[in-house]
Amino acid sequence: MLNVESIIMDRWGGLPNFHKRNSREEWHCGCPARCGGDPSTTDRFVIQFNADSGIITGWCRQCGHTENIFPDGHNTSRMLTSEELAEMREAARIKEEQIREEASERLDYYAGRIDEFHEMSSSHRELWHKHWVADWSMDYYRLGFMPDKTIGKNETGEWIKNEALVIPVWSEHWTLDNVQFRLLNPPNPHDKYRQVSGLPVGLFHTQPDIGLSGTVVVTEGIKKAICLNQVVLSATGELMNIIAIPSSKPPDELILKFNNVERMYLILDPDTRVPTPRGTIQDKVISKFIELNPNLELFPVNIPTKIDDFFYRYGFKFEDFEPYLTKGRPVLRGSADMFSTLKELRGENVRQER
Ligand SMILES: [Zn+2]
Repeated sequence: MLNVESIIMDRWGGLPNFHKRNSREEWHCGCPARCGGDPSTTDRFVIQFNADSGIITGWCRQCGHTENIFPDGHNTSRMLTSEELAEMREAARIKEEQIREEASERLDYYAGRIDEFHEMSSSHRELWHKHWVADWSMDYYRLGFMPDKTIGKNETGEWIKNEALVIPVWSEHWTLDNVQFRLLNPPNPHDKYRQVSGLPVGLFHTQPDIGLSGTVVVTEGIKKAICLNQVVLSATGELMNIIAIPSSKPPDELILKFNNVERMYLILDPDTRVPTPRGTIQDKVISKFIELNPNLELFPVNIPTKIDDFFYRYGFKFEDFEPYLTKGRPVLRGSADMFSTLKELRGENVRQER
């Protein structure tokens, strides 16, 4: 059995921005021919595996450099002719379009069932209460319950189903970007979420009527945004524009949506600040946000616990949270100062968390 992933890692894994596309068998990285090109695109070099022929092909959308690995381990590398390059680009475009179309059909299917999922019994609502989500939030965001979310097949080819909490991912103007499923009994406890594949999870807006501009507060995960929204509203009666990113590693296309935002308070989980020789996850996210949104003023807000735990598990009040917002210092855009500022912030965290 050909271990495609390890062959790909071995040959191209060391190139800049190497990553696997979440939703499909495709890997991207910087071009091995170092052709340069538009620095805002990180996916110039595309790697795909053709299961029929067994050939692994990497090709550059920018310059046409192509590398093939054949089943016998034989490698070739050359430049595509301009006709071949045009053909590859067109094929990739069509494939991309097809994937999006199928995904949007699946999204329509779930969109049509949101009201049904939202018809919850009191025991289903109780499941949400365990996550500190109030009834009015359930109703406002049309949260729901699905008894039989399909999550894959077992060894004998039968569908495996799981109970799931259903979270419509509302973006600006109540556009449904995706539907997220929080599995209640996941076979792997570290793999609790599903979504409509082929589409990014999207950004969840706690205030879908307010656009993505001005000042925003960003949390990692939708339930945390909802919890923070509940606390802010009941404590102040005012709306805060809280946006959830799906994880601490949001894709570029979501980060680019913050282009009109002037000021952002970023609340990531404390584990994103664990130092490693290559920096912290928080540093990376911040650098990415600033790189792609050069006018953004970004304040990391370093709460010692996860934000939902902070209020609901440990019982802190909104007044306890406010100082964290004002204590944050902006990260200076693109300047060398950024790194010393981040180091200082990390130093502060260590003291706070002890
Ligand atoms: Zn290239």
